[in-house]
Order: sequence, then C-alpha cells, then structure tokens
Amino acid sequence: MVSVPPDDLHLDDSAGKPKEACGVFGLYSREAAGELAQRTYFGLYAMQHRGQESAGIAISDGERTLAMRDMGLVSQVFDEQKLASLEGGHIALGHVRYSTTGSASWENAQPEFHGRGDVNVFVAHNGNLVNTAALRRELEEEGFEFESTSDTAAIAACAVGELEEGHSVAEAVLRTMRRLEGAYSVAMVFRDKLVAFRDPHGFRPLCIGKIEGGHAVSSETCGLDIIGAGFLREIEPGEVVVIDDEGLKSYRAESPRRALCVFEYVYFARPDSRFDGREVAHSRQRMGEILAEEAPAEADVVIPVPDSGIMAAVGYSQGSGIPYAEGLIKNRYVGRTFIQPADSMRQLGLRLKLNPLPSVIEGKRVVVIDDSIVRGNTARKLVGLLFEAGAAEIHFRVSSPPVTGPCYYGIDMDTKEGLVGANFTVEEIREQIGATTLAYLSVDGMVAATEQKKSHLCRACFDGEYPITGTAQKFALENAAVADAVVGES
Ligand code: 5GP
Ligand code: MG
Repeated sequence: MVSVPPDDLHLDDSAGKPKEACGVFGLYSREAAGELAQRTYFGLYAMQHRGQESAGIAISDGERTLAMRDMGLVSQVFDEQKLASLEGGHIALGHVRYSTTGSASWENAQPEFHGRGDVNVFVAHNGNLVNTAALRRELEEEGFEFESTSDTAAIAACAVGELEEGHSVAEAVLRTMRRLEGAYSVAMVFRDKLVAFRDPHGFRPLCIGKIEGGHAVSSETCGLDIIGAGFLREIEPGEVVVIDDEGLKSYRAESPRRALCVFEYVYFARPDSRFDGREVAHSRQRMGEILAEEAPAEADVVIPVPDSGIMAAVGYSQGSGIPYAEGLIKNRYVGRTFIQPADSMRQLGLRLKLNPLPSVIEGKRVVVIDDSIVRGNTARKLVGLLFEAGAAEIHFRVSSPPVTGPCYYGIDMDTKEGLVGANFTVEEIREQIGATTLAYLSVDGMVAATEQKKSHLCRACFDGEYPITGTAQKFALENAAVADAVVGES
C-alpha cells in the first residue's frame, strides 16, 4: 500500500492554506434601481477569487432592506429567480467571504445585519480587526448581544451604538473607526445611505466607480469593469465616503498611514485589477523580470504554475531570454466542492488538478515559477510530478520572498507553525521540495515591482514589520479571550 501524507488527500488547494481576503461591493443609483441585485451579482462574480465560502446580497429602498446570503459560490447561492426577488431598491450591498475571524458557518455569512430599536445597519467587511475581543466586551457592557462570532458583527454593533446617539452617519462612522484597530475595508447600508470606509492603513483595497445616476464601491477595479462602471478613484486610507441622493461626500478620520497588503500584488488581487492606476498583472510581470536578474538559471524553458504563476513566468522569460511555455495543464473546474477520490486514486494527488505536458518537459532544464511558497506542499508535489514527466533539472523560482510571519490583517495564516519559510532555510526548503535549485525574489525586488514606496506597503508576512505596534500580542490576547468565551459558552 502506498502511504499518503494527509495533505495529499486534499485536492482542493485551499485546504489548510492561507485563505483569501474577502470581497466587498456596493451600488447606489435610483436610475438603475430594478437591476442592482443583478449588477451586484456580477460584481461579486468578478471577485469570486477573494472568497469562495459564502456570498450575500442586500438591497434597500432606503426604508426596507432585503438580504440573502448562504454558503457557497456566488453562482451557487443566487439564481435569476432569487435575484429578481431581491430587486426593487436603489441601494445594494454585496459580499464574498472567506472566514478569517469567526467560524465558517451560515450565521457568519455577510452582509452582516445588526439592529436595535429603529437603528439597523447592514455591513460588508474585508479585513480583520486585532481588537475584536476587547471591543466585543465593551459592546456587551453597552448592552449589545451577538449572534455571530465575527469581528464584522462588532463593527456593525459599534456603528449602531454611535448612530443611536443621534450623530450624523459620517460622524457615527468616524467615531466607530476610532474604536477599531486592524484592517477594515467596509461598505455599509444605513437607511437611505451607502457608506464606505477604509482603515487608516488601507490594508485592504477599496475603490469607487461611477454608474448612471450614482456610484459603485468595490474591493477591486475588476468588480467595476464587469458592470461597465467607470473608475473614479480609490477610497483613501482613513477616509469615509457617504453616498446618497445628494451625491458623494468624503470625510477624513485619521491621517493615513498607508500600508496596502503587498500580498494583494503577489497573489490575491485579480491580475486585471488596478492599484494606483497600475495593473496588478504588470507588477507581477515585473516581479518575474526582477527575479530573473536576482536569481538567474541556466535552463531551456520557463513554465508557470497556473494560474497564479503565469504573469511572473512571462516576466522571467522576458528578463532571462529563456523561452516561455505552458508545461502544466490545470483543470480549472477543481474547486472546493470537489468529491474526495477513492483510496485507489488518492496517490494521483495533485495530478487531478495539474497535469504535466511531457513534450514540453522531457529532457529539459526547466525553470518553474510560482507566486509564493506558503506551506511548501504544492512545490514539493510539483517537483515530483515534473521529474516524473522527464525533467532533467528543476530550477524552482518564487516571485515573492519566503513567507516568514503570520498575518493578522485579513489573511488566514495566523501562526508560524505551518509556514515553511518561517522554520527552514532556503537550502533546507530546496532539499524538502527536491528541486535542483531554489530561489526567491527579495523584499526590495518585490517592492520595486509594485512601484509603491516601501513604507506604503504592509510587508509583515515577509519581513516581520507589523504596521500596528503590538499586533502579535493583541492577537494572542484576542485568541485567548475567544478561547475563554468558547469555553464559557459550552
Ligand atoms: P503551499 O506552499 O502552501 O503548498 O502553496 C503555495 C501555492 O498556494 C502557490 O501556488 C500560491 O499560488 C497558492 N496560494 C498562496 N496564497 C494562497 C491563498 O491564500 N489561498 C489559496 N487557495 N492559495 C494560495
Ligand atoms: Mg498557485
């Protein structure tokens, strides 16, 4: 019998892996009322890569809000009939989710609702707070009860509390933001307003677009493109935007500290999305070019690990002059709901998802480009697969630096244990994955490829510089508090 390590049983490549951030979407337009649910559906559909666990849409006419949310992909949660039953309002809110705080259950699907008396809000959040536990305790003392375990529930309750005080919406959100610590790009519906705000670091992206008679809000520009919305601008770190019949008004919370997650450039964002007017694809290609300068290889062919390695492989090929080829064919339909194969098939492992093309690989010295190594399992299995397919040498090149630290700002990799780059040297990792050579892009090379200032990017998972001081301690406290709460509940 062949013994298979447990992770080989998961063909779903997200199993045990860091999980994507979430996707947030919002629309405001009386002119387009009647098709906002459908447009929100498409906006979310374009941002499915940001979260495949649950999806939800809320539609409001300024007085009444209808919401539908469930576990699953956007196309599984909604169909034409359901969308039609939501239509009617002129304000829409949408969300795709991957749980980072709170469990992967239906109750935690978003948009999150919180109401007390006649003050009700719907909230869609991307990011992760680092002070959820403390904030929830405070809010509980203020009389709030929570049905959901997410940090988003705390944001929603906080906003309700401030709105109850009779502040204007903008003032209530500014006051809410003063109580939040961590990463939050949020879209929220309150009565006749769509509100969008971003934490002072701007860890997660959020932008505004223009549609007929109104505005759109989207985590990524690809969400605007798909519905034909014109890109207006990014929401600034620390900015609150209030959209209603009077148009769009902007307010500043704190002076921005700017720390957009660099992993958005490396992996998360769709290549056709734009940050600061520059395509993510362009940055990824630059990462490959710079990698070719920093870590050249004598080889016959450059192949990407599809899809995430494609842009960087193109760049590596252009930078090195080594021809580019597709040497691995990906089955694009292997998803989270993949049926676990019978025991006799399990040894095929990764092959069900990626199958090598021997004609491209046989007898060749192959440069393999992937965007990142997190746990190291993908790289190890791939190298095995490619040698089996006849590769003479495998020069594994990674278009980001070793992931050495946890993320507390919205990527679900919150412990060091699973991160191969945190526990082994590059040479040890090379040995583990079995490659002929292994090299990563440098932190400075990665930063240069984004064309952003280094100080304007959060690089914590690569170089340990956490933009919020004491993040790890706060997070540990938080985990302890959550564990206490869970023990207390049972
Ligand atoms: P690992 O080293 O954990 O086995 O896997 C690295 C691979 O996972 C790379 O191909 C990279 O594209 C992909 N990856 C990196 N971050 C994430 C993530 O957050 N979610 C998922 N599903 N894959 C990721
Ligand atoms: Mg990948």
